[in-house]
Amino acid sequence: MSMRIGYGWDSHEFKPGVPLKIGGVALPHDQGLAGHSDGDVLLHAITDALLGAIAAPDIGALFPPSDPQWKGADSVVFLQEALRRVRLAGYEIVNLDSSLILAAPKIGPHTAAIRARVAALTGVAPDSVGIKAKTPEGMGTDNAAIAHVVVLLTNRG
Ligand code: MG
Repeated sequence: MSMRIGYGWDSHEFKPGVPLKIGGVALPHDQGLAGHSDGDVLLHAITDALLGAIAAPDIGALFPPSDPQWKGADSVVFLQEALRRVRLAGYEIVNLDSSLILAAPKIGPHTAAIRARVAALTGVAPDSVGIKAKTPEGMGTDNAAIAHVVVLLTNRG
């Protein structure tokens, strides 16, 4: 048996007039996250953690922001490609853990929904998905959402 650890990080700036999606869940807020795709900072960090665990090219290499094909894309598409590559490499997810860093909105009331959605998207049990949120004390990043993710993989057989 072999195991792999992966780490992913992403940030997106808040922008008025766009919907806010975090972990594939639409959250009520007066701003969303700017980006070439739907700006889902958590799904991007999960995607990069999975790709990193198998030493695959990162999300920016696979889905270049310069490619109009990915404009407004649902970030679930990026995650699904990373999961396809993980399976192809013979691995499956043991668990993943995340930290979200953002000033607003409060994530606490939505943690269960985000955990359930990420679990469904990645095919693991909800108790294998850590969703933690902190405010950016002293960081000066109140206009951004930041996500850090680690993932553990094991090979099948
Ligand atoms: Mg991103």
